[in-house]
Amino acid sequence: MAVPVSQAWTVATYVLKQKFLGRKKYPLVLMLEPLFRCNLACAGCGKIQYPAHILKAELSPEECFKAVEECGTPMVAIPGGEPLLHPQMPEIVAGLVARKKYVYMCTNALLLKEKLHLFKPSKYLSFSVHVDGQREHHDFSVCREGGYDIAMAGVHAAVAAGFRVTTNTTLFDGADPNSVRAHFDELMVAGVESMMVSPGYTYDKAPDQKHFLGRARSKKMFRAILSNRKKTWRFNASPMFMEFLMGKKDLTCTPWGMPTFSIFGWQKPCYLLQDGYADSFKELMETVQWQNYGTESGNPQCANCMVHSGYEASGVNYTFGSIKGMLQTAKAMFFGSYKDDGAQKILNEWKPASHAPLVQIASPVAQIADHLQEVSGD
Ligand code: SF4
Repeated sequence: MAVPVSQAWTVATYVLKQKFLGRKKYPLVLMLEPLFRCNLACAGCGKIQYPAHILKAELSPEECFKAVEECGTPMVAIPGGEPLLHPQMPEIVAGLVARKKYVYMCTNALLLKEKLHLFKPSKYLSFSVHVDGQREHHDFSVCREGGYDIAMAGVHAAVAAGFRVTTNTTLFDGADPNSVRAHFDELMVAGVESMMVSPGYTYDKAPDQKHFLGRARSKKMFRAILSNRKKTWRFNASPMFMEFLMGKKDLTCTPWGMPTFSIFGWQKPCYLLQDGYADSFKELMETVQWQNYGTESGNPQCANCMVHSGYEASGVNYTFGSIKGMLQTAKAMFFGSYKDDGAQKILNEWKPASHAPLVQIASPVAQIADHLQEVSGD
């Protein structure tokens, strides 16, 4: 099982309750961003290009707990920025665990080994480690030589200490499906509980604009990666979302499914776009013109989007929306090896793109982050 039974049960009963209450739009996972500063400056990231005073700002534990209680989701993901740079992160995580929220603390793991002692293993807590591929690919993706080895050392340390450890892998143009499959093998051997994979989003603020995947290329790549699936692989994503990535299922975006709360408030309409902010979760749900978002809306910002934060909740909603959805999901979970000769052919013929030499990005953002880290003594 990719998640503990208690978590699957909590999520299933939560979604069925929303259905029973007739709620068409309901949140599933709170994306809680307590800070934006980071100790990496990845080329595909759109979250860290802020001025210094914003990068220095943080949500307090009380603000985090209020947001969680307002939206009421059973799961909370803590992306950022790098959450381990927040001096009160152990207190925030402990408070969420005490509220029986299933927490995925997303981390690049550069600090995981040294900060592990500040956390307690719990079925409610998972470290979701950002690893974008095998060593060379990950280091290229995060613009940091040695980043892979540090991240994997963090994974090993957390697994050994009894923590739940999952991974998140973001793929951009130039990813090699054969290498991604080998990467999955390595993660399973390392003892991670389950893996999440998603195409990247074309942030207009990201430094590297050349390597984002269009929808057709995404589907081809994910068909190659996720077909002929190995029995050893466990994924931390809805089976219907994964079929969507493979081009086997159409889903429409549910931007309200993973609402985002940060130092700016509730972000409209989703984790990726910033079309304003609301002061409360209620205001967010009532004031966003939801019909203006999603690929079908014709909004150019949504044209190529297939990301996990927009479509995972769509997959879960599809599962619980009908008997057909439940049967398809059960079939995918128990018999879903997705045998596909065409996908094997794509793998056999795939020509890996060679990366340009790795460039350590010494961006002002990274320098500010380093400086802030030194100043705060973390
Ligand atoms: S399609 Fe993507 S960018 Fe558009 S609203 Fe959905 S998640 Fe946001």
